Amino acid sequence: MAGSTALSEASISALTTRLEQENPEAIVRWAIETFGDGVSIGASFGGVTGMAILHMAATLKPDVHVFVLDTDYLFEETHETMRQAVSSLDLTNVQVYKSKLNHEVQAAKHGSALWMRNPDLCCEIRKVEPNRRALAGKTCWLSGLRRDQSEGRASVPIVEWNNKFGVLKVNPLANWTEAQTWDYVVKHEVPYNPLLNQGYTSIGCFNCTLPGVQGRAGRWAGFDKDECGLHTS
Ligand code: SF4
Repeated sequence: MAGSTALSEASISALTTRLEQENPEAIVRWAIETFGDGVSIGASFGGVTGMAILHMAATLKPDVHVFVLDTDYLFEETHETMRQAVSSLDLTNVQVYKSKLNHEVQAAKHGSALWMRNPDLCCEIRKVEPNRRALAGKTCWLSGLRRDQSEGRASVPIVEWNNKFGVLKVNPLANWTEAQTWDYVVKHEVPYNPLLNQGYTSIGCFNCTLPGVQGRAGRWAGFDKDECGLHTS
């Protein structure tokens, strides 16, 4: 298969049917064998799903392209988890993407604490635009969405064409549960964010993440928003 741009809707539908029957490790293997250096893993170093994917991919291809979106508002525990993962999984191609606007420039242009007034714009500036640069030239985006994470993710496909970023998007753990994902991470001794042991269930920017709330309800409290815009059309 030459690349994701060559895939028709019919091929993606057939792939979805086939890969629904496979386990996540087989799906990650398929993606790496099919797309090679065209694969890119978006890792938040917040949740366990992404950590499991990193472990599965690093076992096959330690130089797989991994990118993290450093919004300038990540918890120190998230940075530490990234350092631990790079070391223990022997990842050799992890790249950090930041917004073109630093904190001060964003405040001067859009006002201070933009996340409290317009989190969609803040996410667009600090996540979506850097994500576009991270995936430029790539053909396959491995992402850590699971169907049990929220109502909005309940029908996430294993494979889909993503128009927003122009890549084939693969969610290898879409049909795993949170418990299955934890079992994998514990069994393989994959490092994970210690905040997950401190009452956080979904970890993003410290400005917009609360502990003690199940699922993604702790994100963007007070707003009708539970996605940052990376995974919406
Ligand atoms: S999660 Fe909050 S602080 Fe982070 S980019 Fe989005 S709105 Fe801004």
